[in-house]
Amino acid sequence: MIEVEKLHKSFGENEILKGLDIEIKQGEKVVIIGPSGSGKSTFLRCLNYLEEPTSGRVKIEGHYFVDPHGKYNEKHIASLRTEVGMVFQRFNLFPNMTAIENVMAAQIKIRKKSKEEAKKTAEKYLIKVGLGERMDHYPRQLSGGQQQRVAIARALAMEPKVMLFDEATSALDPELVGEVLNVIRDLAREGMTMVLVTHEMRFAEEVGDRIIFMDKGVIVEEGHPKEFFHHPKHERTKAFINKVE
Ligand code: ADP
Ligand code: MG
Repeated sequence: MIEVEKLHKSFGENEILKGLDIEIKQGEKVVIIGPSGSGKSTFLRCLNYLEEPTSGRVKIEGHYFVDPHGKYNEKHIASLRTEVGMVFQRFNLFPNMTAIENVMAAQIKIRKKSKEEAKKTAEKYLIKVGLGERMDHYPRQLSGGQQQRVAIARALAMEPKVMLFDEATSALDPELVGEVLNVIRDLAREGMTMVLVTHEMRFAEEVGDRIIFMDKGVIVEEGHPKEFFHHPKHERTKAFINKVE
């Protein structure tokens, strides 16, 4: 489903990703953990070309964002990007639109759906994330957990093949984390291919098929969750797990 080859990303002199090779299979749930500043967000952003890799390539479902000569066109990138849904730490809903309008907007603008079609799809996904009763509320009338669930519905409404979650619960009050994790857990059970960056170690162990520990732009260790959390091999992994838990 996703193939990452020798991915490098620098900002100026600063090399943030130092040659990542990762393959992700259809239906697989890959959890990325690592200290702040290790390049996790940059990596996710390269997966949908929100960041342009300095070198190396990303292939989604057999299609590269760039051709073998490093050329790309905006149209091609835009269409490939619709296959990859992303949920951020900050939900970034439009404050002047209701929940359902937020979920409809990109469907109309990018998927070119009619208003009626977009509305039907939006209703379906808002119900799915447990917000059937809140569709006409504005973001300010919703809790952080509810807003994040709208953001998830908005991503799902594009019917992506892969979902990326970048610390989707980090900005939430502790009592609201569970409702968002429940939605992500349900998606995982349904077989959605997912790449998650999270600090919720128990959740990572529960839903992950594979854990990748990144530090300073390289993969230090990866493995099956049980193995990874209970028998980590590298000192840096051990130190990180002990510090977080
Ligand atoms: P993580 O998500 O693991 O905390 P990030 O990928 O956000 O790490 O950031 C890794 C490093 O890249 C940080 O040092 C950050 O300052 C730097 N960085 C990220 N985005 C940019 C940018 N647009 N311009 C310059 N530096 C950036
Ligand atoms: Mg980050």
